[in-house]
Amino acid sequence: MSTPWHVLGAGSLGTLWATRLARAGLPVRLILRDAERLRSYQAAGGLTLVEHGAATTYAVPAQTAADPKRIRRLLVACKAYDAESAVARLAPRLSADAELILLQNGLGSQDAVATVVPQARCISASSTEGAFRDGDWRVVFAGHGFTWLGDAGHPVAPIWLDDLQAANIPHEWSTDILTRLWRKLALNCAINPLTVLHDCRNGGLEQHQCEVATLCAELAELLERCGQPAAALDLQQEVERVIHATAANYSSMYQDVANRRRTEISYLLGHACKVATRHQLNLPHLTQLQQRLVEHLRSLGLPSD
Ligand code: NAP
Repeated sequence: MSTPWHVLGAGSLGTLWATRLARAGLPVRLILRDAERLRSYQAAGGLTLVEHGAATTYAVPAQTAADPKRIRRLLVACKAYDAESAVARLAPRLSADAELILLQNGLGSQDAVATVVPQARCISASSTEGAFRDGDWRVVFAGHGFTWLGDAGHPVAPIWLDDLQAANIPHEWSTDILTRLWRKLALNCAINPLTVLHDCRNGGLEQHQCEVATLCAELAELLERCGQPAAALDLQQEVERVIHATAANYSSMYQDVANRRRTEISYLLGHACKVATRHQLNLPHLTQLQQRLVEHLRSLGLPSD
């Protein structure tokens, strides 16, 4: 039998991956938070994926971190703020040749995970696919997209990309994954916090072009300083293009705040500000944006980290 895909976290992206891999006949095991979540999952009878309005349930086997079996391939599908602790609990189960695929948005969580599992190969992903939960163990495939995968320390592609092909998961091996992650982080920093603070859809930022342009200039400076000039190229034009193309959408951070969920701020704007400080780079507008966002989250009683 081919190497099982262990999927840590059966939320939106975890379910999107697990169901497509299972549908292709590949071995998949879900790793759930605890025994209570496992009981709830078992009562539901599987993961349901809603695609083009049709719902299909897949009875993917599940376990908790306490299961004793070895793990060779682990898809980490938690939020960025949960990834390090969730992986640390599995560290004793990882084989010597284990590979981890990290689906987390932003930057910072990938290095934190790599530190707790130094023996494992950690592959980062950057995805434009979109999914959301419309019930427990039930996920809607909302936006078809693409996933880039790469390993900054080791450019050779892994053999299991064939599994993704078989599962119809659109993907490409990238030799510049860090540049992609930084570019996506910069786009996120220029758009998402402002949509929260101005309480608007992405398109609402067309009324705040000066503010967006100032942030883009500071973000480009930061990218240059941390050795990512390619990620800085025409940043403002792309930000404006994204604002226009997604004008009717609410950003992921806006949706998190509206639904009173914790945001991933520490791995997005927070990470950008932290790296700027590390490089002794003074970026007043970016710093002020972070302060305003933190204050706003606190005023709503939401976590500000
Ligand atoms: P999500 O729907 O909140 O799912 C996260 C899952 O992780 C939840 O099911 C949660 O379990 C589980 N989890 C947390 N700690 C765990 C632990 N210790 N053991 C086992 N499971 C644990 O999040 P998501 O939207 O899939 O996002 C995951 C990452 O992908 C984020 O970094 C996000 O930014 C990124 N991303 C998401 C999308 C998207 O469209 N959703 C697109 C691109 C990138 P419970 O169910 O028990 O809470």
